Amino acid sequence: MAKIQMKTPLVEMDGDEMTRIMWQMIKDELLLPYIDLKTEYYDLGLEYRNQTDDQVTIDSAEATKKYGVAVKCATITPNAARMSEYDLKEMWKSPNGTIRAALDGTVFRTPIQVKGIEPCVKNWEQPITLARHAYGDVYKNTEIKVPGPGKAELVFTAEDGTEIREVIHEFDGPGILQGIHNMDRSITSFARACFSYALDTKQDLWFATKDTISKKYDHNFKDIFQEIYEKEYKERFEAAGLEYFYTLIDDAVARVMKTQGGFIWACKNYDGDVMSDMVSSACGSLAMMTSVLVSPDGVYEYEAAHGTVQRHYYKHLEGEETSTNSVATIFAWTGALHKRGELDEIPELAEFADKLERAVLKTIEGGKMTKDLALITSLESVTVLNTLNFIRAVRETMETM
Ligand code: NAP
Ligand code: MG
Repeated sequence: MAKIQMKTPLVEMDGDEMTRIMWQMIKDELLLPYIDLKTEYYDLGLEYRNQTDDQVTIDSAEATKKYGVAVKCATITPNAARMSEYDLKEMWKSPNGTIRAALDGTVFRTPIQVKGIEPCVKNWEQPITLARHAYGDVYKNTEIKVPGPGKAELVFTAEDGTEIREVIHEFDGPGILQGIHNMDRSITSFARACFSYALDTKQDLWFATKDTISKKYDHNFKDIFQEIYEKEYKERFEAAGLEYFYTLIDDAVARVMKTQGGFIWACKNYDGDVMSDMVSSACGSLAMMTSVLVSPDGVYEYEAAHGTVQRHYYKHLEGEETSTNSVATIFAWTGALHKRGELDEIPELAEFADKLERAVLKTIEGGKMTKDLALITSLESVTVLNTLNFIRAVRETMETM
């Protein structure tokens, strides 16, 4: 059979440890036999990042802007232990942080739902996609531990020297203080990314903050979303039969538990951090969670939500068999290939990506899975496969389809 041809290359960002091992297996077993795979390869493995003083990460982000679609393997974010393990020149920044900053993107995370791995919330029939604003608020805060009595004020000094001043609190004893910020520019990008992604995936969009209490800060988020919606997206939403829905965060949390799923839930940075862990844990496993970074001008970077699975990698290095779940990494590839097929008008490529996803789900539903899923499945007869054999089982399923 002739291989599927591509037009524009995908930006391929290789990574570290066990996910790097799976990366190659996925390419060898599931992609290269069927696709004349065109990629522009960037090695984001920690060794090469260190060799290039992290320039390779910056280059890969630039290439993503140029070509529009990237697929990324999980990478190590260096800490003190990694400094000595890899003999690093510097404690390089998180590649995801660097890429996110370059693309000004919003991260969308969706659980991969499959029969046999049911969410704890019984009524969640469709996956809930979490859209987390990735800039500011408590993640870029300034804090003071107040030693004793005194007055705390919030002061803004404009470039021309004029001041805006508000009393925060008159302390009569020790306490704590925190200053946080966000920018209209960032919130606007976040809103656009959410509305575009909702249209792209044909799902309703929910957004929630605490604007009744935070009458300026959170209210600003609400107003910007509403303004962008009305000016730029309302007509397209209505034409597509989609809804944009704003409510209070506590109301959203209560309602989410009662829905059937199948929508996008946009959250401020902290809410998104907390709620995405809740949704993913309720759906079984981090290895069953896709993640895509979408920039406001329509650039996409697909990856798995989990890390490099370090513990399994050390077993692998000792020659021990591992049963590492490759589903999220496979879905990173299929997400990117599907998008490339769509943008370049290569229907075979998009269809291949869909078929590979169905083959993954069918393999698991047929009882063949990795250990992490075997531990939580409701299926009765299960075969636990090792890392490579699971990928080969997916290939067999795909061959029969
Ligand atoms: P992790 O790689 O997500 O793994 C944590 C644990 O979750 C594993 O030990 C394993 O549990 C389970 N797990 C995760 N993915 C799995 C999979 N595909 N199949 C089976 N089990 C899976 O997180 P980590 O160990 O905290 O971090 C390792 C490295 O990844 C760190 O250097 C961190 O910087 C990096 N990281 C990268 C990204 C990214 O690039 N997006 C994200 C997070 C972390 P058991 O050991 O119990 O089997
Ligand atoms: Mg978290």
